Amino acid sequence: MSSAVSEILIVGAGYAGSVVARELADAGKRVRVIDKRPHIAGNAFDELDAHGVLVHRYGPHIFHTNAERIWEWLSRFTQWREYEHRVRGVVDGREYPFPINRDTLNALYGLDLDEAGAAAFFERVREPREPVRTSEDVVLNSVGRDLYEKFFLHYTRKQWGLDPSELKAGVAARIPVRTNTDDRYFTDTFQAMPKLGYTKMFEAILDHPNIRVELDVDFEDVRRRGTFAHTVYTGPIDAYFHHCHGRLPYRSLRFAHEHLPDVAEYQSVGTVNYPNDHAYTRITEFKHLTGQQHAGTSIVREYPQAEGDPYYPIPRTENELLFKRYEAMSADERDVTFVGRLAQYRYYNMDQVVGAALAAVRRLLD
Ligand SMILES: Cc1cc2nc3c(=O)[nH]c(=O)nc-3n(C[C@H](O)[C@H](O)[C@H](O)COP(=O)(O)OP(=O)(O)OC[C@H]3O[C@@H](n4cnc5c(N)ncnc54)[C@H](O)[C@@H]3O)c2cc1C
Repeated sequence: MSSAVSEILIVGAGYAGSVVARELADAGKRVRVIDKRPHIAGNAFDELDAHGVLVHRYGPHIFHTNAERIWEWLSRFTQWREYEHRVRGVVDGREYPFPINRDTLNALYGLDLDEAGAAAFFERVREPREPVRTSEDVVLNSVGRDLYEKFFLHYTRKQWGLDPSELKAGVAARIPVRTNTDDRYFTDTFQAMPKLGYTKMFEAILDHPNIRVELDVDFEDVRRRGTFAHTVYTGPIDAYFHHCHGRLPYRSLRFAHEHLPDVAEYQSVGTVNYPNDHAYTRITEFKHLTGQQHAGTSIVREYPQAEGDPYYPIPRTENELLFKRYEAMSADERDVTFVGRLAQYRYYNMDQVVGAALAAVRRLLD
């Protein structure tokens, strides 16, 4: 019996892979984690840029959850910095609170609405839709055409390369509309950033004598050689099956990072959305997220694109049907567990993927 046989292989050192690895290691299993990238932490990877500012290489990651169990699990590996994310949307050259709230309405239309007035305003402008199937339906149904065109239509076209009418309702349903003046992007009970960053938190998660991490290693090279007691696969499910039913579509992004040496603060909040102007969707200034003090500042612009690393599963019915075909094949792979955003072709936030990984480990250990 080769030594590898008693080892569990984990493909991917992002949330899904790292959480599974730690739980298995704590349960006494020996684990080998590989990632084809040269670093751990998956898309949550952060690092000091050339100017010493902590940045998120793959775009801004803000932790938020209502699940105390997940908060506590991660809190074993990091301390936190309290942080509530705020976003502004630029329309006709002016910044407005986003998600849309009462202040957005008052500033945009020169009104002085109170909470009941804002509710009445939405009721008057909304275009009731029944049934609500697409993202267009969701937004028109709640805020009507003008706000839809100002804040959602063009942003969605840029972000997804699709019209909101071509996307499932769930995409827009994630963005609330408020009659109060709450301008926080998230309203979860727990909202915070790992005090020393995500990568440090992942280092702590993976710091266990039963865990061996190998970077710059592609699963394709390992699967040819190794025999493992079990494999936990967190990469794209279609790639696992060599795209035998065709490629699952993913939306990709190009991240244009920039350092501004003599600018202490570039923008008033963490993220500013540009729904209607520019090829990029948004600019994030990292110092807001991390609280870092620095004479200069670092920002990132996000340019959505069709080609490149797979970031977002595209929520359309035909894609879900294609995923189902791969999922059916995965059920026959008795020695492999598929978990994570790419393996489950699902829009998971960080807390959700931790939850999915903990559930997968429970099933595996049972
Ligand atoms: C731009 C952007 C912003 C986001 N912002 C937030 C946010 O603010 N809040 C939030 O909660 N969530 C956010 N998310 C979601 C978050 O990134 C995911 O929930 C999380 O990364 C999912 O973890 P994962 O382990 O499933 O996948 P990943 O982080 O993608 O990890 C998978 C890993 O598998 C590796 N891999 C793939 N194939 C192979 C192979 N063949 N061989 C070896 N290794 C392989 C990859 O290199 C990768 O490191 C954001 C995502 C993006 C793209």
